[in-house]
Amino acid sequence: DDTIVLSDLAKRMGIKANEMIQKLIGLGVMVTVNQTIDFDTAVLVASEFDYELERASFEEESILSETTEKDDPAKLTERSPVVTIMGHVDHGKTSLLDVIRKTRITEIEAGGITQHIGAYNVSTDNGQITFLDTPGHEAFTSMRARGAKVTDLVVLVVAADDGVMPQTVEAINHSKAAGVPIIVAVNKIDKANADTDRVVRELSEQGLVPEDWGGDTIFVKVSAKQNQGIDNLLEMILLQSEVLELKANADKLAKGYVVESKLDSGRGSVATVLVQEGTLHAGNSVVCGIHHGKIRAMLNDRGVQVESAGPSIPVEVIGLSGVPNAGDELIAVSDDKSAKQVSVHRVQKQRAKELAKTSRMSLEKLFEKM
Ligand code: GDP
Ligand code: MG
Repeated sequence: DDTIVLSDLAKRMGIKANEMIQKLIGLGVMVTVNQTIDFDTAVLVASEFDYELERASFEEESILSETTEKDDPAKLTERSPVVTIMGHVDHGKTSLLDVIRKTRITEIEAGGITQHIGAYNVSTDNGQITFLDTPGHEAFTSMRARGAKVTDLVVLVVAADDGVMPQTVEAINHSKAAGVPIIVAVNKIDKANADTDRVVRELSEQGLVPEDWGGDTIFVKVSAKQNQGIDNLLEMILLQSEVLELKANADKLAKGYVVESKLDSGRGSVATVLVQEGTLHAGNSVVCGIHHGKIRAMLNDRGVQVESAGPSIPVEVIGLSGVPNAGDELIAVSDDKSAKQVSVHRVQKQRAKELAKTSRMSLEKLFEKM
């Protein structure tokens, strides 16, 4: 069990696989990128790069490598886009999310929405779209800070009666930094003082130029309040995502991100997870942040119990040992023992970090007093 694929180890250490192979040859070990090396060899080669490899970390990597290994291109299949709506306060983000959810879900399914889980999936004639209902830009930026790319597309909402405002610019900057394409939804076109041209002009100054002005940004005019232009917006989202050729391997252990989490008095830890790769199944053993668990139940965005969730699908997960943070990664592993092992190791690591922090702080305090 104590082995790791060379390319995985190199990737984790941020070293080129070729350089590692060269070093290993120097040490008398002949190995190729896709071959595995044992713990002792890994320690040896790591020390050549001034890395100290602990057994626990090594075991964690080898447990998780089954999920994190690179996919065979032949196994990739299409997945639906994950969209975040951003924009200045009061420009209509919540209204837009609501009108999309209501008109595309409630009317089709009797019973309607029973709960809010931070993400939902809608079906259109041309495909499915997942919307992340993140509170403001925080979740988006904190996840990005952790290296998670959870959004494929940003819909930038700009109110036609207000134009580009500070948070509009902020949203543009976040999206650009994340390399996420933007579709502009010019909202509130029903208002008497709506001025779409002004919005176009101001956004062009920010580098978002519509096609008929010679640019390549898609602009859609909508009214969340009067349910106008919503079909067109959904169509444009699907059109833009076609260009992105979004794909994932659905046929492996799942990996995803926590979008929202809470402690529920009846159900315990409840986490909304957006699956990114693989398929998550009820009963799977998972690691999530510092927590672990066996998935007791999964609910979809309509509150209906489901047995599995594939790429781009959000689900509520019940059965984790604790409440994870938004942005934490969830990884399915082969068995309970492995899940627990990784979680215990992460808890220890976190404690060690906190201890280091407090002792440093008390030292600083000591110096202050001197
Ligand atoms: P958020 O802060 O971006 O989430 O904005 P909200 O969705 O809360 O909307 C702010 C206000 O604008 C609310 O009073 C909405 O009713 C109103 N609003 C949103 N969309 C429209 C629209 O298309 N037309 C009009 N007239 N009002 C809208
Ligand atoms: Mg809002």
